[in-house]
Amino acid sequence: MSAPTKQTRQDVYVRDGYRCVMCCATDPLTFQHRRAVGMGGSKILPPPVDGLTLCASCNQRCEADLQDAALAHGWKVRRWVRSPERVPVFFPAELAWYRLEGTRRVRISAAVAMEMGCAVYGDEWMRWRAHALFGADGRGTR
Ligand SMILES: [Zn+2]
Repeated sequence: MSAPTKQTRQDVYVRDGYRCVMCCATDPLTFQHRRAVGMGGSKILPPPVDGLTLCASCNQRCEADLQDAALAHGWKVRRWVRSPERVPVFFPAELAWYRLEGTRRVRISAAVAMEMGCAVYGDEWMRWRAHALFGADGRGTR
């Protein structure tokens, strides 16, 4: 996965309302790759469904202490998932789940989000969800 095109970055910022999906900060915004960029990168350009608007600090924390929470909320997607649009995304500011579709996001119920996540990840999704809900600091207790 390489850097997004200017257009894709723009589409993702517009879709997410020009603010960090996680904390609502509006500056400095970054394009977060939902799927980790592989070693040495790749020539494949990320589509909008593979990107998320995050501030620089949240982007960093998704790769560090908030990894489980990021997976549980669809902010991060396992690299082996071929279609990142199959993993729903939680927007904390709206307390709502969305599925990403092209350059749009479509609101879905928590039940549908649960089904989508389980269809992709199975039990692992449930474990991440449990950590996200009950881990005092969002990190779980492993
Ligand atoms: Zn943020």
